[in-house]
Amino acid sequence: MNTPFQNALSQLERATKLVSFPADFLKRIAQPNRQIRVSLPVNMDNGTLNIYEGYRVQFNNARGPYKGGIRFHQDTDMEEVKALAFWMTLKCAVANIPMGGGKGGVTVNPKELSETELEALSRAWMRSLVDVVGPQKDVPAPDVNTTPEIMAWMADEYAKRTGDTTGAVITGKPLEAGGSQGRATATAQGGFYVFEALKEKLGLPEVCKVVIQGFGNAGEHAADIWTKAGHKLVATSDSKAAIRNPEGLDVLALYEHKKATGSVAGFAGGETFERDELLYQECDVLIPAALENQIREDNVDRLRAHIVLELANGPTTPEADDRLFARGIAVIPDILANAGGVTVSTFEWEQNVKHEHWSEEDVFAKLKSIMHQEAQLIFHRSQDLHTDLRRAAFVIALERLEQAMKI
Ligand code: NAD
Repeated sequence: MNTPFQNALSQLERATKLVSFPADFLKRIAQPNRQIRVSLPVNMDNGTLNIYEGYRVQFNNARGPYKGGIRFHQDTDMEEVKALAFWMTLKCAVANIPMGGGKGGVTVNPKELSETELEALSRAWMRSLVDVVGPQKDVPAPDVNTTPEIMAWMADEYAKRTGDTTGAVITGKPLEAGGSQGRATATAQGGFYVFEALKEKLGLPEVCKVVIQGFGNAGEHAADIWTKAGHKLVATSDSKAAIRNPEGLDVLALYEHKKATGSVAGFAGGETFERDELLYQECDVLIPAALENQIREDNVDRLRAHIVLELANGPTTPEADDRLFARGIAVIPDILANAGGVTVSTFEWEQNVKHEHWSEEDVFAKLKSIMHQEAQLIFHRSQDLHTDLRRAAFVIALERLEQAMKI
């Protein structure tokens, strides 16, 4: 199987076959500006010392400071972080926000750490990278397994080392620590605005049956938002199991069950089934909201969805994209579908820099306007180019990046 970065480069190559770009630009956009690897020492509760490997990839800052989350996961490595940083570069260009692309990570299973150890690790990451991040240089955020609390520890560590207490160095902070209204739900909310903008164009019914892979931050908020808008969540999953109910799952009760037991498995309001069968449930909207490489050449033909909306980054491989396109199954690509997260992160950064506080109403009104506009633009471009939405989104992002780099 290709690495996520190989997939990212293959997506780039496919899009640039449709519209040509200067060769020098393409050489530059395929390579990160900087890749940083750090050793993070943590004194464990049992008195031993553990050293974890941490990363920051600063991919491209032609349009603004590097921007992108930090992932804590046992399988995270430099290759994965590099791919995520590349996608961030395109995503910020798709959303047309004044940010470049970056991403960070630590190879660790945070579920094996105590709270004290997790705080020490988070502070160590910021301490090691304090010289390369900053409100006008590189602004990290949460990603898989990193929380608002972790962002607050990192912001505090940055303030201690630099004296900058604006909080603008990192986004996704709790409200009390300079976070933005709406940030917690922004990724899912942005995805929903895109869905709304394209629903009719993609021939979706009034009430959609929705399946969500991954009941974490992005997934559970999506479940809440889609069902509150009258759609039906017929199945969802986490790293342990999947759960389904053709009549619709009760999202709040499922959330409480997951909070109490650690998994969706065994929820009384549905039938528990094998985790990886989730993708093959019949539905109108399939929302991958877990990890990369989930929809591949070897399983894509088993999908029974009308459209795929990627809240996760990189869930569909390029080969699977082609098969879905041939079957008329539209894929709303990650760099559009989940751009709500980084967009509201950028609103948070702007509020911190200007010492402002915006209402939730304001935040969502601005987010909706961006997502609707960019979704329409990408849809029309895909029609003009007779291609899929991912290639169209890449072309638009690359045009904006090329302009910025030329200037
Ligand atoms: P999270 O850690 O809160 O949730 C991830 C969920 O996926 C968990 O419920 C986990 O149990 C589940 N999971 C892991 N492996 C699985 C598998 N094989 N099958 C089913 N479920 C599985 O992470 P998150 O922040 O919700 O991020 C999820 C995805 O969304 C990632 O690709 C991330 O990069 C992307 N994303 C998140 C944000 C954000 O603001 N949180 C923004 C943009 C993109």
